[in-house]
Amino acid sequence: MSDKQPARHHGVFIIGSGPAGYTAALYTARANLKPFMVTGIQPGGQLTTTTEVENFPGFPDGVMGPEMMQLFEKQAVRFGLEIHFGMVSKVDFSQRPFRIEIDEDELHTADAVIVCTGATAKYLGVPGEQPADQGGYLGRGVSACATCDGFFFRDQEICVVGGGDTAMEEANYLTRFASTVHVIHRRDALRASKIMQERALANPKIRFHWNSAPVEVQGDGNGVTGVRLRDTVTGEERVLPVTGYFSAIGHKPNTDLFVGQLDMNEVGYLLVKSPSSYTNVPGVFAAGDVADPTYRQAVSAAGMGCVAAIDCERWLEAQGAH
Ligand code: FAD
Ligand code: NAP
Repeated sequence: MSDKQPARHHGVFIIGSGPAGYTAALYTARANLKPFMVTGIQPGGQLTTTTEVENFPGFPDGVMGPEMMQLFEKQAVRFGLEIHFGMVSKVDFSQRPFRIEIDEDELHTADAVIVCTGATAKYLGVPGEQPADQGGYLGRGVSACATCDGFFFRDQEICVVGGGDTAMEEANYLTRFASTVHVIHRRDALRASKIMQERALANPKIRFHWNSAPVEVQGDGNGVTGVRLRDTVTGEERVLPVTGYFSAIGHKPNTDLFVGQLDMNEVGYLLVKSPSSYTNVPGVFAAGDVADPTYRQAVSAAGMGCVAAIDCERWLEAQGAH
């Protein structure tokens, strides 16, 4: 790890700026622990890619995801959170104080770290989903963010892949623009919550393609022209003509940084000593989607952020650090 400049030291270092990170920041800031946060590539986290959030308590009329995350930021900054817009590029949890490298050249140290790095959208990996330099159509019809890209598909036929809440939400949202939204799901039953299912099933602009799996996204110089589907029961293939392809099959926990240092399950979710936020390294805590393969909600991530902040505060006190 780089030793080019003298390291800056922090009591509490928070990695990630979603609901978990900001809640951990709010609590540690109010406990006078002067937290320092690195936002990562997605300041505000996953909710900045969505439209209306209807299930976060305290917003009876709903709130737009990006607006809610601005409110989270404002509240934590009010109590003294320091924010750095950048990436954590390396961590060394083998010694104390912990060593954390930012943006590949800036070394920081910390008495305690709260990991809130969340999760990132997944793609199937079929031909055609890749960026243009790899022969695919990413950014030219292939997307994983309806809020970001829906606008480009006015009066067009597009598809959404997946059967969970994200897929239903993306599909419903995209009907504002598209003429038809085709939902492609590999089974004949949805994973999404009842209310999201009902909304999508009742939407006249959404068509469901059950037992269907994309095997290729097709296109030409102008972008996506269709998706080749395989029937997961009969094996038959057909092409569905669409000009937009939205992947909504879930997320991968952002834990590559911690491989070999923090214990994780087989798909990369960090393991914590539940119901606490303790990881296998004393002084390193984890909160939110990065440590939650089950619930993955904004309010549960925020709750875990609170738990991590309190665990961290008590742990530091026991070390005599504060
Ligand atoms: P995230 O929000 O994933 O934030 C992770 C943070 O870590 C980001 O800021 C990222 O930049 C940062 N990070 C990652 N790597 C690094 C690094 N190396 N260095 C520094 N920072 C890093 N939940 C609901 O309750 N209601 C909803 O209506 C709802 N709608 C959703 C709609 C969509 C489209 C999606 C994708 C999710 C939705 N969810 C919803 C789920 C909700 O967004 C997540 O549960 C929640 O955001 C998780 O919060 P988090 O803080 O754990 O992580
Ligand atoms: P998810 O619940 O894991 O659903 C992923 C979907 O993609 C599933 O239907 C899955 O199919 C399908 N899928 C996964 N891998 C696939 C593959 N290789 N090929 C084809 N299909 C594949 O993920 P999510 O929908 O992103 O939701 C994540 C969490 O965020 C959930 O807890 C959810 O409740 C929450 N969330 C909430 C809201 C809301 O409340 N408004 C909105 C969005 C997300 P199978 O069903 O066959 O496994």
